[in-house]
Amino acid sequence: MSKSNLTELTISKARKLLDKREISSVELTKAFLDKIAETDNFVKSFITVTPELALKQAEKADLLIKENNIHDLTGIPLQIKDNICTSGVNTTCSSKMLENFVPPYNATIVDKLYDSAAILLGKGNLDEFAMGSSTENSYFYPTKNPWDLDRVPGGSSGGPAASVSSDQVISSIGSDTGGSIRQPASLCGVVGLKPTYGLVSRYGLIAFASSLDQIGPITKDVTDSALLLNAISGYDSKDATSINFQTPDYCNYLKEDLSGIKIAIPEDYFGDDIDSGVKKVVYEAIEVLKKLGASIEEISLSVMQQFALAVYYIIAPSEASANLSRYDGVKYGFSDRLNSGDLMETLYKTRQNGFGPEVKRRIMLGTYALSSGYYDAYYLKAQQAKKMIKSEYEDTFKKYDAIITPTSPTVAFKIGEKFSNPVQMYLSDILTIPVNIAGIPAISIPSGFINGLPVGMQIIAPRLREDTIFHIAYSYEKATNWSKFKPNFNT
Ligand code: GLN
Repeated sequence: MSKSNLTELTISKARKLLDKREISSVELTKAFLDKIAETDNFVKSFITVTPELALKQAEKADLLIKENNIHDLTGIPLQIKDNICTSGVNTTCSSKMLENFVPPYNATIVDKLYDSAAILLGKGNLDEFAMGSSTENSYFYPTKNPWDLDRVPGGSSGGPAASVSSDQVISSIGSDTGGSIRQPASLCGVVGLKPTYGLVSRYGLIAFASSLDQIGPITKDVTDSALLLNAISGYDSKDATSINFQTPDYCNYLKEDLSGIKIAIPEDYFGDDIDSGVKKVVYEAIEVLKKLGASIEEISLSVMQQFALAVYYIIAPSEASANLSRYDGVKYGFSDRLNSGDLMETLYKTRQNGFGPEVKRRIMLGTYALSSGYYDAYYLKAQQAKKMIKSEYEDTFKKYDAIITPTSPTVAFKIGEKFSNPVQMYLSDILTIPVNIAGIPAISIPSGFINGLPVGMQIIAPRLREDTIFHIAYSYEKATNWSKFKPNFNT
């Protein structure tokens, strides 16, 4: 098998070749490291590449395979978003504040991946502290979309989505607070899953908005998404919001027939603010689902359509303002101590010079919403509206198994196009944010192209019904070919 073919493998295909000893993990890891070296000057999806660690882990994995001590991910090379702590490996959150931070511990999901002898190729670029929709807020550099290097890959998990799409890695792990796995997956033509809140441990994920943050897989196909969710989900006593739930083997739900499945299409999510090309592609995808046996009905989700974005931009910045108060120039991370006279000045200068503009904007918004005079008017109201959004979903799921919408209102936009207009940028997540507010799962899967740029379809299911998501997503993927297309960028 040639080297370029190796980097096109999915986890399930690589697994078979590794188990039959047709390839070794060292060979596979080297192929990806070469691909990263060839392409990352253009794509810029990595903040840190870890070749020595990766090759050491690969040698170990090959020994395990020899002894037949094999898990689903043994010897599989992955990337992890750089807001997830990796012991001994720089974890920057794409911020000057944590530029030189080397965590002394692993996030729970990293331990789980290492326990099954997966390989770490490096850490993926993101918007600073995961705040953004384009990866342009990275302190280091923006990541480029492999389908058109003049366009953004989406965000905040732009690094992970671009690296999977350009075959620099088999899969990556992202985080999603308001759409940061699904929106970049959609813009880069890959599969991105935001699991139910609490299904995957958040221990070791650098906190942005704790009641919304969730870790999940970004993969080349739906089968790999199920394999990775199997590996990273499950109860963790180190995360107080972790759900004590007996997780099934998600691969059991990769079935092809959709008869009996009831799908709701919210007309409010196909309005004038959604690009007409995107709507057309998603309507065509819905026709495919119909042919596969699903019943389709139009519904309305007007509460969330009206309030979700406003609720999110009160709750997320409020929680961020509290979470980011720990960066004080004293305990760890960047400190402007040398240029300051006393403790207070150190604090001011550190925060002034350590955070970028979007992070500061969120801290100010959140501090304002939580201040005593405005708490009732903003934060409390947002919490009340959150309940209404949740019950709108609950009512819908009494009658339907899943809801389908586009993932993003547009295809990938040009670098710089929305950068100086935060509200335009915030609108990129209008279709993904309600899912985080309700704490339910959703996936984005490739469903077509507009002028060579990928379009994603979002499948939303009730709490802990990832099985339904995989069933619908897999059936669709099998009936179409969209996951197989590759960007053709010249390096
Ligand atoms: N784009 C949204 C924001 O800027 C969502 C980010 C995320 O999911 N981490 O907050």
